[in-house]
Amino acid sequence: MKRAAGKRKRMAQLLDGKVLSAEVMENLKARVEALKGKGILPGLAVILVGDDPASQIYVRNKGKACEDLGIRSETIRMSGDTTQEELEAVIDRLNKDEGIDGILVQLPLPKHLNEPAALAKIIPEKDADGFHLLNCGKLLCSLPGTQPCTPKGIMYMLKSANIPLSGREAVVIGRSNIVGKPVAMMLLQENCTVTVCHSRTQDLASHTRRADILVAAVGKAKFVTADMVKDGAVVIDVGINRVDGKVVGDVDFENVAPKASYITPVPGGVGKMTISMLMLNCVEAAEKRAAL
Ligand code: NAP
Repeated sequence: MKRAAGKRKRMAQLLDGKVLSAEVMENLKARVEALKGKGILPGLAVILVGDDPASQIYVRNKGKACEDLGIRSETIRMSGDTTQEELEAVIDRLNKDEGIDGILVQLPLPKHLNEPAALAKIIPEKDADGFHLLNCGKLLCSLPGTQPCTPKGIMYMLKSANIPLSGREAVVIGRSNIVGKPVAMMLLQENCTVTVCHSRTQDLASHTRRADILVAAVGKAKFVTADMVKDGAVVIDVGINRVDGKVVGDVDFENVAPKASYITPVPGGVGKMTISMLMLNCVEAAEKRAAL
């Protein structure tokens, strides 16, 4: 069907996580080869406790990314009734393993386990996910440290597209420790004026409509509708929601894309970047080991 003259729908430019993460991985392959030349093989260990189906998929994808890069990967699968002591003993062993540069505890852990205590056990130098309190504190204080992968991937996407950040209004929906808070800190570091919204925010749309850069990290399918988005906004969709067997984001993509200047798809957006940033954190840690 032909569109009426002059009625052509403007569409946002896609921030394509598949393409960008493939570029990151290509670049990392060269860095891995250089490390191998110095006798160093980067290594990532992933600890999975229990049998959460989504976590199983994420862990498999991380192992596959290590394989693609040609780095060592160790997945430690522990039963759902693992005790805190057993989990921390595994972390201790990996802390001491000289061939492991990154340790990641797949979250969420079963309810009976103490997540902050487990994350605090990982030595900060091997904290591949950037969730250790020392690395969180460094981010807060604008000091160099390992940064969490999803927010790091979001910033990578924004910078790769040369999207101006300084002085612009950024609104983040969600205040989790793994996405909302750290991405807000990173946007602040880039001189955005940042608003963080959450479930108690009054009149959410009045905030989101001011956003030049809108990050949705809520976990609710199609939560961000077109009427919540300013014309020309950059929309970053972090959400991963399963609806009728399909993966969808937090943004009503079909109706928001015509209003936005840039938008990330789901799947194929932020999620892809998360894995390549994990690989980047691991390679960076190995490079620090090589420099010792
Ligand atoms: P989370 O810990 O559940 O946090 C969700 C946030 O959304 C909370 O801060 C919550 O506010 C807020 N929220 C909930 N309902 C709201 C409402 N009606 N209005 C405004 N805010 C509301 O989730 P998360 O771990 O940050 O993850 C968010 C989404 O991103 C999920 O879909 C997750 O699967 C996805 N994710 C994707 C990646 C990736 O690689 N693409 C990585 C991590 C997470 P309160 O704090 O007040 O409860």
